[in-house]
Amino acid sequence: MDRDWIYPQSFAATARSKHASIYLQNPSTAKLAEFFDKKGLRSLKEEDRAEQWYDDWLGYQASHRLYASMLTPSPHSPAGVELNLLSYSRFLEVFAYHSPAHGYSVQCTSLGLFAILLGNNQALKDEAKAAIEAGGLLAFGVSEKDHGSDLLANEFVVRDSAPGEYLANGSKYYIGNSQHASIICILARQDDRRPAGQATRVHPVLLALRPKESKGFQGVRKIRTFGVRGGFVGEFRVKDHPFPQADVIARDHDAWDCVMGAVTLGKFFLGFGAIGICEHACQEAAAHLTRRILYGKPAIEMAHIRFAMAQAYARLTAMKLYAYRALDYLHASSAGDRRYILYCAVQKAKVCTEGVKVMAQLLECVGAKGFESDTYFEMALRDIQLLPGLEGSTHVNLALTAQFIPRYFARPENLPAAPKSLAITEDSAGEIFRMTRGRSGAIRTISFDHYLSAYRPLRAIANVRLFARQAKAFQLFFRRQYSDRKAEPNLQANLLMGQCLATIAYGQLMAENALRFDLPAQVTSAIFHLLANDLTLAAITVASSGQFDAASIAALMRRTAVVPRTAAGDWDFISARAGSI
Ligand SMILES: Cc1cc2nc3c(=O)[nH]c(=O)nc-3n(C[C@H](O)[C@H](O)[C@H](O)COP(=O)(O)OP(=O)(O)OC[C@H]3O[C@@H](n4cnc5c(N)ncnc54)[C@H](O)[C@@H]3O)c2cc1C
Repeated sequence: MDRDWIYPQSFAATARSKHASIYLQNPSTAKLAEFFDKKGLRSLKEEDRAEQWYDDWLGYQASHRLYASMLTPSPHSPAGVELNLLSYSRFLEVFAYHSPAHGYSVQCTSLGLFAILLGNNQALKDEAKAAIEAGGLLAFGVSEKDHGSDLLANEFVVRDSAPGEYLANGSKYYIGNSQHASIICILARQDDRRPAGQATRVHPVLLALRPKESKGFQGVRKIRTFGVRGGFVGEFRVKDHPFPQADVIARDHDAWDCVMGAVTLGKFFLGFGAIGICEHACQEAAAHLTRRILYGKPAIEMAHIRFAMAQAYARLTAMKLYAYRALDYLHASSAGDRRYILYCAVQKAKVCTEGVKVMAQLLECVGAKGFESDTYFEMALRDIQLLPGLEGSTHVNLALTAQFIPRYFARPENLPAAPKSLAITEDSAGEIFRMTRGRSGAIRTISFDHYLSAYRPLRAIANVRLFARQAKAFQLFFRRQYSDRKAEPNLQANLLMGQCLATIAYGQLMAENALRFDLPAQVTSAIFHLLANDLTLAAITVASSGQFDAASIAALMRRTAVVPRTAAGDWDFISARAGSI
């Protein structure tokens, strides 16, 4: 199997790249591409401008079982979450390439489905799968207008009304698909009011609400958003909605597990959306810059544009290499191997923010064209910026990443085997991923391979060696922080350290896949050039934050301020690829 699909691809019928066929061999992905090719960019942009809901798409996906084929490949199986991870990830990449706003409907459906499937209510699992099988959507109702990420402060309540019967009251904000969903999974709290002044513990309840059948479901309205304008990001109220025990997905600790499990998967899959968006924008930018003649030559031939396009292309290739390796860790996850929790957080914190960087760089190259509103590019500029904030912000994921620092650099013990590559052994495309609950637990029990082992096979490449040396310097810095501090680092210090570990873990999985995909040395060198620069910048940010002692900072700066070098011919090699995406 040709491995070049790991480079940025173009999926539009009018400009299809050679390796897009690997994605489109999946019948559902091919059907998806067919719909958008037929619709055409002009209609898509008109609908986007009109913020128009996409009934035509939903009818089409229902009649071809697109969401069902991806989310419930075996609808009658009683097991937990069942997914073909590789097919679904590629489907999401192609989906975002065509329209992130349409893709938002499957993202919210998957969140609702995962939350239900991670619970123990078999009847609701069957109902949710049947709804998707019938072409319906689901929704995931966690956020509230006044409380954002502070879920413990949420006010949506559930009260006992009779034995085994309850009343739900409250409102939710920013809930995708809420006007259309067959089921909304709502995170509420049990109302067990205590006398004033007495502390109450939050007892979460995750319940299934069927908006079309509930008289208490009221006031649904679309929140107009900067991106994904065709989607429906909604606000709604629920007033005295009666429901039986049979509608409870989970309670207490189990309810958190369902919500967090769904969010972990959801934030991971957003990374493929960021990749698809950047691929389409990169292709449009390259086509424009090739057509654009300045001073008698195509603009793409100007040295600085060639260089910037090569950098954007290298960053985008790195996003793909990371994301498709993190997929392997998710697939291999088990009660004894929970490394995926770190790699999912890094996927969110890095892949999505790298997407924003790629778009900024492409915008610099294309100039005014980037602001014309008839292009995909203009939509991409808006939509890409949503991704770092959804399903846990970059900050939240960096804070989570920081919690892994002691384990990531600890001596490996009882290490699970390196996960096999789903993307290389294409035959595993038929493999189903079963996720069951019970994979949460203390981070201190998670074991990682030696943090330098991924770089050893690539040590002939100078920029990789440089990056590995930086990683070592950070290990020393972190060790000092954890052994010298009397108190836990504060949030700001944690986020700074989380950013550094996120870049190191990003480099690690990148290196693992560079080897598996047999990446040419020129590309690996250029990618590690950018990563080494990023790590130097992260070190300077740490140094100038005022959060760390002078001796630690001096040692860190001495070892991490490096100057990577990439031969001009290597950048030319990449820019030639970028120009012909
Ligand atoms: C287009 C769109 C679609 C959405 N779809 C859904 C959906 O379908 N279902 C749903 O439930 N929600 C949805 N959301 C809500 C989304 O997940 C919110 O971003 C989330 O609720 C957090 O709230 P907030 O963005 O207002 O940030 P806030 O929580 O108000 O955070 C403000 C700032 O504080 C930082 N911060 C907050 N907590 C921490 C922390 N613990 N550590 C470090 N920094 C922190 C944040 O990074 C941010 O910079 C959607 C939002 C949008 C814009």
